[in-house]
Amino acid sequence: MSIKPLVILPDPVLRLVSKPVERVDASLRKLADDMLDTMYDAPGIGLAAIQVGEPLRMLVIDVAKEGEPKAPHVFINPEIVEQSGEASIYEEGCLSIPDYYAEVERPATVRVTYLDREGKPQEVAAAGLLATCLQHEIDHLNGVLFIDHISKLKRDMVVRKFRKLAKDRPPSRMVG
Ligand code: ZN
Repeated sequence: MSIKPLVILPDPVLRLVSKPVERVDASLRKLADDMLDTMYDAPGIGLAAIQVGEPLRMLVIDVAKEGEPKAPHVFINPEIVEQSGEASIYEEGCLSIPDYYAEVERPATVRVTYLDREGKPQEVAAAGLLATCLQHEIDHLNGVLFIDHISKLKRDMVVRKFRKLAKDRPPSRMVG
């Protein structure tokens, strides 16, 4: 079990476009397991690899309700191939933007293709919280944050707040 440090706004790493995974091997599965540990520890319901500093198109999700058994899912190279015209609104938060929540409108259902933890092609038709979570995490792979879906005024306020917090915080990473 290994918990990785989270990349926090306004770290420019969050704006990188992640690269497709070319090989599903033991080291990738180890990263997926570490991401799940990190997500459960936070706690959160979704995490993209870029949020632990790895610019790879992989994310983990568990939308099981409290009291239900854990339902970890790994999505490698996920792609939205279909989305509904109908929208739904959820209050979203992000492990890279701690303690900030805002309502975001997104397509209510999506169909997503991906590779699973074993590298096998899969497809899921998602609705409800899973649909929202998948879209939020796939956004991360493209350098997009949920605050990009709210008003510019609100977004500027959040970014300013986190810039100030970052200044008061000792650097979390060694740069060398
Ligand atoms: Zn997020």
